[in-house]
Amino acid sequence: MPSRQTLKYSFFTAAETLGLQRLLLNNATGRVRVVLFHSVIPDGETMPNAVTVSEFHQQMTWLAQNTNVVGLTQEGHWRGLRDDALNVHVSFDDGFVNTLTHAVPVLRALGLTASFFLLAEALRGRRPAFLETYQRRGTRKQLLSLMKPEHARELLHAGMCVGSHSQIHCDFRAYSTAQAVDDAKRSRDTIEEALGCRVGAFAFPWGFFSPPQLAPLLAHYERLFLTAHGLNTSADRVCCRNEVESLTHLKATVSGLVDVKSLASSRYAPTFP
Ligand SMILES: [Zn+2]
Repeated sequence: MPSRQTLKYSFFTAAETLGLQRLLLNNATGRVRVVLFHSVIPDGETMPNAVTVSEFHQQMTWLAQNTNVVGLTQEGHWRGLRDDALNVHVSFDDGFVNTLTHAVPVLRALGLTASFFLLAEALRGRRPAFLETYQRRGTRKQLLSLMKPEHARELLHAGMCVGSHSQIHCDFRAYSTAQAVDDAKRSRDTIEEALGCRVGAFAFPWGFFSPPQLAPLLAHYERLFLTAHGLNTSADRVCCRNEVESLTHLKATVSGLVDVKSLASSRYAPTFP
């Protein structure tokens, strides 16, 4: 019997063949779709939640040819938005050095920029607890390095945006509103001080938060990023994001087909950082 994954991909491929994705793409002009990655690794290597360099290159090439890829300023404002095209923003969580090594050259070659959400305490050498999950799954140690200030400065130099992914990746649902604001604010201050730049964007660890935290956090950040799936308007300051795992998945995600399909299945629940 075919696996769920195979059925899902057959559905996406059939919809693409029928032109359904193209129709959905054209329907979303002026909106902003944010896609989410964690790691980009050399071809032939394996790591949970990662895409290979070749896959990433294919995906970014498709995005550049079929959508308007937008950047984010350090202040957290969209850069290069168009109202006659579907805008797509590429983002990376957790601050793995592998994204600097393997994703940035691909982005630069295509003239694209992306945002990278870093852990403030990792800039100071602290290791978040979630790395144990990767280690248990046998990920090679070198792929698990997290960015230090010198890496983050390279991102800025390459025209990328650096945002905050909190102090050290705690679950914000366990925080009071005051604790959430304190963590997010301190992480911003640490990154700003380490890099000498403004930080105006924040992505919740695992996408977890409590709704009352949003308004107070918007007093300190221009834009907040979740992992709830969806399409954003250009004015949204709390933005949905969709994680991406392959070219087929990217096409379905960017067009919105993945959301159409998920309406019929269970709600998305993030299981990874
Ligand atoms: Zn994360």
